[in-house]
Amino acid sequence: MKKLYLFANWKMYLGVAESEKLARAFGKISNPKGSEIVIFPSALAMSTAAPIFKKNKFLFGAQNIHWSDHGGFTGEVSVAMYKELGCTHALVGHSERRRLFHESDQDVRLKLEAILDEKIIPVLCVGETLEERKAGKVEEVLEKQLQSAYANLLLPKGIGLIVAYEPVWAIGTGESCDSEEAERIAGFISELVKKITGQTPVVLYGGSVSAENIRNYINQPNIQGVLVGGASAAKESWSELIEKLT
Ligand code: PEP
Repeated sequence: MKKLYLFANWKMYLGVAESEKLARAFGKISNPKGSEIVIFPSALAMSTAAPIFKKNKFLFGAQNIHWSDHGGFTGEVSVAMYKELGCTHALVGHSERRRLFHESDQDVRLKLEAILDEKIIPVLCVGETLEERKAGKVEEVLEKQLQSAYANLLLPKGIGLIVAYEPVWAIGTGESCDSEEAERIAGFISELVKKITGQTPVVLYGGSVSAENIRNYINQPNIQGVLVGGASAAKESWSELIEKLT
């Protein structure tokens, strides 16, 4: 049986008390054998939720980081600061950051390097918009995102690469990508990342994953897990999703 990666992106859905409550609730759910669960709470809730995650043996990570390690960057949080709390992962290049906060491929690259400098695991999110898909540019868009992120990147020993294929049109819309198409793209990503870096990445699918569709994705050979947003931010939907895997 393949190792299963289940990543929960709580985005800005929960306050500190709600995050603490959900962290405890996650701890009561019995997780599928051989799965790796990583939770991405808000920056504000991190220090409250971290001890609960640790107690329940969950890994956890940052939703966003700044590429400097300290200094005059009002409102930002560095990788070192997250690492101090025990973070092992960081999301980078999420489409909400690219689209709403105008993060460029260059910004993504700087963040990726900062994450690797601290020897934590970057979870690179890539994906095309609906317009790009309709124009037949999916592979072209992904290639640009992957090349600018990974070309000539120094990879510290022991740090594996994780790529989340998250079509922009599927994020938070309820309209998930057809699982065979997601599998085709996961294969494309895997091949390309191997060509660029020499490493075979773990490829996840993200975009409106729910209890109804999760099995379609995780049964695909090139998809090793899922990055879940909305359905991960409530006890009921998360446990329904987990139940489908046990
Ligand atoms: C995400 O934000 O990474 C995501 C996959 O969101 P959702 O599951 O809500 O589409």
